[in-house]
Amino acid sequence: MINRRSFVLHLPLLYFFYFLPKVARAFEIAAVRIWPSEEYTRLAIEHLEEKIKIQYSNEKNPDRIIIRIFNMKITKKNSSKLANVNLNHTPIEKISISDSPSNEVKIVFYINPLTRARISSIPAIAHYRDRLVIDFIPAKKKDELLSFLENYQREKRLNKGTEKQRKSKKQITIAIDPGHGGEDPGAIGKKGTKEKDVVLKIAMRLKRKIEKNPRFKVFLTRNGDYFISLRNRIKKAKRAGASVFISIHADAWIRPDARGASVYILSDKGASSEAARWMAKKENLSDLVGGEIMNKNDEIAKTIFNMSTSAQIKNSSILGRKVLEELSTISHIHKKTVEGAGFAVLKNPDIPSILVETAFISNPQEENRLRNGLHQEKIASAINTGILTFIKNSKLRF
Ligand SMILES: [Zn+2]
Repeated sequence: MINRRSFVLHLPLLYFFYFLPKVARAFEIAAVRIWPSEEYTRLAIEHLEEKIKIQYSNEKNPDRIIIRIFNMKITKKNSSKLANVNLNHTPIEKISISDSPSNEVKIVFYINPLTRARISSIPAIAHYRDRLVIDFIPAKKKDELLSFLENYQREKRLNKGTEKQRKSKKQITIAIDPGHGGEDPGAIGKKGTKEKDVVLKIAMRLKRKIEKNPRFKVFLTRNGDYFISLRNRIKKAKRAGASVFISIHADAWIRPDARGASVYILSDKGASSEAARWMAKKENLSDLVGGEIMNKNDEIAKTIFNMSTSAQIKNSSILGRKVLEELSTISHIHKKTVEGAGFAVLKNPDIPSILVETAFISNPQEENRLRNGLHQEKIASAINTGILTFIKNSKLRF
C-alpha cells in the first residue's frame, strides 16, 4: 500500500517556482545531525537553500521513507554528508541519496518496519540555517511513563512490610527537568561546554541524592541527549504524578563577569525585572531551536497550560526561596530574590515549579566549576536540601 502525502513549504513562493525555468540548483548541506533515543530518533539536515519544495511518501517491501526535493541536484560531497551519518541505535538501516533526471534529489531511508516518520521543515533560527527534520518514531512506543509507574508499584510491593514508614506515607514523585537537549544545546561556554550536557549531569546526580530517601521517586523529563518541547516536559511530569517540578539550567550573558546562581518562577503579572524577561525569552526559544513540531491539537492544549493559579505561583515562590537559600551556601548568588517571568516550562497549573540557573556557563570560572563533578555534586546537594525543606514545611498534601 502506498500512502502518498505531499506538502509544499513556504506556500506564497509556489508560483515563483512554477515560473522559473526548470534549472536545478545545488542542494547544499551545511550539516547533518542525528539524535537517537528510546522515545524517538531525530535526523536534522541543515541546508543552505532557503526555500525548498518537497514531497514524501511511505513505502513498503522494503519499508522506506522517500523524500523528493524538487528542482535540486546534489553533489557527491553533499550526499556523503548524509550517507555517512552514524546510524547506530537508530531504526534507520540505510540511507540512499540520488539525483534523478527530472531534477529531483531523492533521499530514501530504509527503516525498521515498526517505525513511523514525521517530517517537518524548520526555518532558520539562532545559529542554525533552514532544517529538514525527520523524526523516526517507534510505532509501538515503549511507554516510559507506564514503565516508570510500573517500577514504582513493583518497588512499593517489594518493600511492603519491610518498612513501617512506607505503609503510612506514600512515595512522593519529583520531576527533574534537565533543560535543552538534542538540536538545542542551550548556552555554550568559552571552552565549548554545552548547557544541555552539564544540566543532564547535575540532574542525574540530583536524582541519585533524592532517591536515597525511600519516600521519594524522581522522574527525569529526559535521560539522554534529545529534544523535548517545553510543553511535553510539563505533560510528562504531570502524567508521572509529580508533586514538584525543577527545571535545571545554566545561564549565559554577554558580559563574561556575570556570575552566580538564580532561581525563577512563573509570573502572571509580567516579569519582575528586565533581566528576568530576557531570561524567559531566551529559555522559551528552546522550542524553536530544538525544532518543536506542532499540530492543531497542540494549539488547543496551549491555552490549557496558560491557566496557572495563584496558589501554584505562591508555592513555587516558597520552593524557590528554599532552593536559593541552599544555593547561597555553596556559590555566589546572582539575584538575592526569586524572580518571575513568563517561562513556558513553568506553566503548570498545579505543581510548584521552579527554574534553577545553576551558574553562568558564559563565565570562564563558573564554566570550569560546572564541568567539575565535585561542584555538580554540591549543586545537586543544595537543590536536594532545598526541596526537602520545602516539602517538610509545606502545608500542601503530598
Ligand atoms: Zn537554559
